[in-house]
Amino acid sequence: MKISSSLLLAALTLVSAGDIHATGGPDKGPGKPDNRELVESNKLRRGLSRTGLLLHGVALQAFADANGKTRAFGTKGHNATVSYIKGLLDRTGYYDTYLQSFPYTFSEGSGTFSADGTDYAAGYFTYGPAGEATGTIVPVNNFGCEQSDFPAEVAGNIALVSRGTCEFGLKVALAGNAGASAIAIYNNAAGNLAGTLGAPSRPDGPYVPAVSLSGEDGTVLLAAAQAGNLQGTVHVDALTEARYSSNIIATTKEGDKNNIVMAGAHSDSVSAGPGINDNGSGSIGVLEVALALTKYKVKQAVRFAWWTAEEFGLVGAEHYVANLSAEEQSKIALYLNFDMIASPNFGYFIYDGDGSTFNLTGPAGSDHIEKTFEDYFRKEARLPSAPSQFDGRSDYGPFLEAGIPSGGLFTGAEGLKTKEEAKLFGGEAGVSYDVNYHEAGDTLANCNVGAWIQNTKAIAHTVAVYARSLAGIPRGAGVLRRRVAIPKSISTNRKFACGGTHNHNVDRI
Ligand SMILES: [Zn+2]
Repeated sequence: MKISSSLLLAALTLVSAGDIHATGGPDKGPGKPDNRELVESNKLRRGLSRTGLLLHGVALQAFADANGKTRAFGTKGHNATVSYIKGLLDRTGYYDTYLQSFPYTFSEGSGTFSADGTDYAAGYFTYGPAGEATGTIVPVNNFGCEQSDFPAEVAGNIALVSRGTCEFGLKVALAGNAGASAIAIYNNAAGNLAGTLGAPSRPDGPYVPAVSLSGEDGTVLLAAAQAGNLQGTVHVDALTEARYSSNIIATTKEGDKNNIVMAGAHSDSVSAGPGINDNGSGSIGVLEVALALTKYKVKQAVRFAWWTAEEFGLVGAEHYVANLSAEEQSKIALYLNFDMIASPNFGYFIYDGDGSTFNLTGPAGSDHIEKTFEDYFRKEARLPSAPSQFDGRSDYGPFLEAGIPSGGLFTGAEGLKTKEEAKLFGGEAGVSYDVNYHEAGDTLANCNVGAWIQNTKAIAHTVAVYARSLAGIPRGAGVLRRRVAIPKSISTNRKFACGGTHNHNVDRI
């Protein structure tokens, strides 16, 4: 179910009229009795609204549209998103909210490449330097992961090398060491290539201007360069600078702050698009639940978080967890994560916290969270669900490493839906869960509103269950939290965010 254009128009009209989704609030004026009840799943879910989700979606889409079609961290589109969410929370008076602001290295750029007068589509590597170079295109041996792979002729010329075996950043640094004036890295498979050098510099050598090429173009250029003298030009425009960005942290004023139930979502998009499914959907789902919760009392304090710079490698969540004292960490009973919950060709995927399917078991209590979601889908929503790999590839990763029980929902990224999943969830087998994953097409119209609503209800259910009782979550003195080491193959590729295995804008290898 896609959003109809008339509904979008209606939503836009509402937003422009300033009638942002009405929010609840503690009904305690002076002299008024406090009649609020303890939060309960059914009631909290009834307070959610489809219109609310869509209006917030229209707002985030508008922030991107007005600011270069992106809500990437460090851009105005993201800053507007942060202000919008915090503003709505502050109006309720129900939360203590603050912005946790810190600088991080922002990067954007573009590249062009031509050879013997022909232009080829070229991409930019995040953190690559600006510059222009013209010279002979010199093929590099092997994958350019050893200094000896670079022949002497690359000095003053343009190195040409395949993706593979080592990080893009290493290839670019070794090319710099060899005296190359620029480097072109082509995909080792069909299709375009985009990625990151990981950081603005590295100790292996100086970066030179670098562009990415498709696998098809790379094969043609390699043959031409091997056949004889091939002249090329590389041009890179780039901006790299520290920019301040913010996590939003909102904690209920009420509730037991020694036993905090936490739920979060990343608020930034990739630079390539507005990121309404990834992760406007999770940000908005969590926001709707936070606003609906304001009508109720809670036993446990509930803390909501919107993370910045997830798409640069879980930066906001890592910053938050790293800056918690051991005591503050111990007060967080559990963490719930929502990253992409409205994929157009969705599945109802639940993080495999008990390790039964994917073998990475979360800290004790993660199994209980998974079961809470599973029971909800089966008994309450009467919908199918399936486990999703629980590997730390979104903002719950730092929580796992701190030993905090975690869980969450996911509707799929660039992976292909299987036949079995199409039978279970509907949709198209052999097609990506989100064909617009990390692309310009990840607009509000990309989102499946039905899945979005169902997942938002599941967020509300789980928040309500744990805000009432932490039964099933190990707490108290003597509970030793088992820190979960994220497998090295994943942690060295932390930039594979958002559950994707080919998170191409942030690939390092
Ligand atoms: Zn994401």
